[in-house]
Amino acid sequence: MRYRTIVVELVLAVAVLSSVAFADPSVIVSPKKIVPGGIMVVTVKNGAGTVEGTYNGKTLHFNKAHDTLRAVTGIDLNADSGTYPLELKIDGKPSSRDVTIAKKKYPVQRLTLPDEMVILSPENEARAEREQKRMAAIWPVESGLLWQGSFANPLPGKKISTHFGVRRIINKIPKNPHSGVDVTADEGEPVHAPNDAVVALVDDQFFSGKSVVLDHGQGIYTMFFHLSKINVTNGQKVKKGDVVALVGATGRATGAHLHWGVRIQGAKVDPEALMTLKLD
Ligand SMILES: [Zn+2]
Repeated sequence: MRYRTIVVELVLAVAVLSSVAFADPSVIVSPKKIVPGGIMVVTVKNGAGTVEGTYNGKTLHFNKAHDTLRAVTGIDLNADSGTYPLELKIDGKPSSRDVTIAKKKYPVQRLTLPDEMVILSPENEARAEREQKRMAAIWPVESGLLWQGSFANPLPGKKISTHFGVRRIINKIPKNPHSGVDVTADEGEPVHAPNDAVVALVDDQFFSGKSVVLDHGQGIYTMFFHLSKINVTNGQKVKKGDVVALVGATGRATGAHLHWGVRIQGAKVDPEALMTLKLD
């Protein structure tokens, strides 16, 4: 009996050691520092045939990229820092490691706006809530792969006036952090599809004004707000570079600019992180 216990303990010890000391070298997780609001890419090298897996319980979608298989997933802006398991099955063989989400401090911006811009009437409050629900219903839908290669800048050559994640305090009241980037642009400037997609939503909303949401497949969505004109309709297929809309100042906007945002598998992530990802 005693001998049997020792054997079991030895087997367990070896199993724990091997998973720590011999993490599969064919698996690469990037970037080195994973943060809330960032994008994580898992690459499996050495010509694996099939890879499936999860990170922190979320299913990863692996696509062929040259002689590797690669999955792109988002880490939500509000994700708690900590260490979570990345569980893979490479050609049926389990492979597991821990991936840490580091802390990230986003800047704080204090704004003073006229009260009538901040305090909503009950009707507007109810409208904004309905619209928010309509938008939120989109993110859990993970359609088939449409995007291919790197994501392009929808409004190239323009300055970002407010970055992603900025924690806004308006008239001393903390608001939700900025969920996208604001790009300085003039009314009427063309907004291009960052990648191939299907139009998931065309709407005119209280806060975001004339809005377009593009579904790039596998849970990757891009969205464009405060537009003056929309050139696409719900369900329409678009190609990378197509002009989907024109910049405007509709909805709650103090002037013409483009607000654009990205969701990946439900996670709010930084559009700048998506644009700089090398996916070709
Ligand atoms: Zn914005």
